[in-house]
Amino acid sequence: MVAGRVFYEISERGRFLLRSLAHLLLPVSCLGCGQVLYWHEQHICLSCRHQLLPTLWGKGDEAPLSKRLRSLLPIRTVYAPYFFVGPMRHIIHQIKYGGHPMAAEHLGAEIAKGLKTLWRPDEYPDAVVPVPLHPKKHRIRGYNQSFLLAKGVGRSLGRPAKNWLVRTIHTPSQTTMSAAGRWDNVQNAFQSRRLPRRIRHILLVDDVITTGATTVACGRALLRRHPNLRLSIAALAVPWQ
Ligand SMILES: [Zn+2]
Repeated sequence: MVAGRVFYEISERGRFLLRSLAHLLLPVSCLGCGQVLYWHEQHICLSCRHQLLPTLWGKGDEAPLSKRLRSLLPIRTVYAPYFFVGPMRHIIHQIKYGGHPMAAEHLGAEIAKGLKTLWRPDEYPDAVVPVPLHPKKHRIRGYNQSFLLAKGVGRSLGRPAKNWLVRTIHTPSQTTMSAAGRWDNVQNAFQSRRLPRRIRHILLVDDVITTGATTVACGRALLRRHPNLRLSIAALAVPWQ
């Protein structure tokens, strides 16, 4: 017991020293504002942290987005820790296009922290599944930011992150589309792989849920193949409502 504690403290100090040393050699910038971080800051500076707008969704809260998604799919939990405003917009842009795998996993752990306040351990999902990129886009970008977030969530909940959804249709960039166009565009873009029998509850993870079109399309793909599956949805951010 004592030996375990001593080892834990040594490894904690070791990690701290390594991080300080790495910081000296390779200064790291804040994902929100680009300023060089102080040694005690991880991925996001304190100033940006203070500007993040938490959703504060707790047990029993029915946010408008959650209500809308629930009206379309039998979803168990919908959760996001932050609103997509202020530095969070830049943070998500950075993890999407800037290649920050460690930061994405770290932010995934933040999502999991909120989920742990909503679920008892026996209610945790069996696996975490990211919203996939089309293979062509994946090849160009080299990674899927939602998979990295899912990995962070899964590690924190003690569950695996699995690429069990496949994007079969390459849809054009949706940023300039109307909400209705975006919705139609994506509805048949995904397919679910066959899941192992023991899988009863899946947590679907995306970086940001905007209209919910992609999330609903992914959820439908999973339920089409596995109608008895329980489904929960988590993202790093949702629009301010
Ligand atoms: Zn910052």
